[in-house]
Parts: sequence; C-alpha cells; structure tokens
Amino acid sequence: MPKFAEGVIKFQNSVYPEKKELFEKLSKGQSPEALFITCSDSRIETAMITQTDPGELFICRNAGNIVPPHTTHTGGMTASIEFAVAALNVPHIVICGHTECGAMKGAMNPEGLDALPHVKEWLSYSRAAVSVVEQMGSDLSEADKMKMLLEQNVVLQLQHLKTHPAVAARLAKGDLKLHGWVYDIKTGDVSAYDEASNSFVPVDSHYAAEAAKMAHDKGCAA
Ligand code: ZN
Repeated sequence: MPKFAEGVIKFQNSVYPEKKELFEKLSKGQSPEALFITCSDSRIETAMITQTDPGELFICRNAGNIVPPHTTHTGGMTASIEFAVAALNVPHIVICGHTECGAMKGAMNPEGLDALPHVKEWLSYSRAAVSVVEQMGSDLSEADKMKMLLEQNVVLQLQHLKTHPAVAARLAKGDLKLHGWVYDIKTGDVSAYDEASNSFVPVDSHYAAEAAKMAHDKGCAA
C-alpha cells in the first residue's frame, strides 16, 4: 500500500477521533483567515509552517507560486482568487515563495525547458522578476541571484494580484491585506516583504514592528 493510503487509515483511526468536534464544525462551512498561495513543491507543508488547522487557510498551489495577471481568460488561479476574496472574504492573502525552487531555477534558465513547453510558458509570468535580477544583480553570486529572484518573484506576483478586480476592490475598501513571504526549506526561516523598506525581513521582527506601529497609531488617534 502506498504510504499516503496507509496514512488515511491512520488518520481515520487515530487522528479524526481526537478532532471530531473540529471536523463536525467544519462540515457547516469555512471562514479561512487567509488565501495562501505557494509553490507545489512537496517540501512545503503549509499547515506545519503556519501551525494552522483545517479551515484556516484557503490554499492555491502551483509551480512557482505564480499569480497570472488578470485577463478576460478564466484560469484556475483567477477563479480561486475571486472565490476566496469575493465569496469567502478572506482578510489576508499570502504569497509564499521558497528556497531551492525548481520553478525559479527554470525561470532563470528557460533554455533548459524546451522539453517542458507548458512549464516554460507558465514561468514566463515570472519573466519581469528575472529581468530585475538581470538588471540589479549582475554582480551577485549565483546563490545571491537566486535569492533575489525568489524575492522579486514574490513582489511581482503581489503586483499581479492587485490586477484582479476582486482584490483591487477589497484593497480599495481597506479590509484586505497582502503579504509576501519566502520560506527557507533548510532552516525553517520565513522572511516577509516589508513595503516601506522594499526588503525582506524575518517574519517575527516584521510582524512585531507592524504591531508596534499599529499600537502607536492607535495611541496617536486616541
Ligand atoms: Zn517551488
């Protein structure tokens, strides 16, 4: 039996009974805290990284954690984003890239993708991030170039996200927040995009600084 099928049996016998109440509650509906967009890479375990339970993240995964810019063409990402943002009213969207990303390695070297025509075309949605690296990172080592690409790709896909009408409407209303992350598979570190400094900073200091700023703004308003 494949390991994943054995896992289902284990889930039914020992995991489900312990969380029966949660699953019964979930059968009545969902109200996820975030739309979480990340890469399909098998090494990313979203629930483990974020320590969330079923029902808390609405997840879209694809090679390269890509969000195609909005067009009149309907795709799976576009429909899922629309549903999460306009029907489920998620208050947050996270785009989470990761280290050792095969898709980003491919985006950097598209000439190696001739045998994978769909992958090659899909990764053209990251082309602008590659251009930024070519322009700004020409003096960097290969490892630093890749780090820059992982980050720039997240920043680019955040921009693409804003072209989706449902996202634009919620951003205008002010009740939707976008987050750009990069997860390090080897160290477990997660860095978050800080728009003010246009850089990626450790997730703990990013959110601590944000909370402090909010408390300060609240204090000033009072
Ligand atoms: Zn990846």
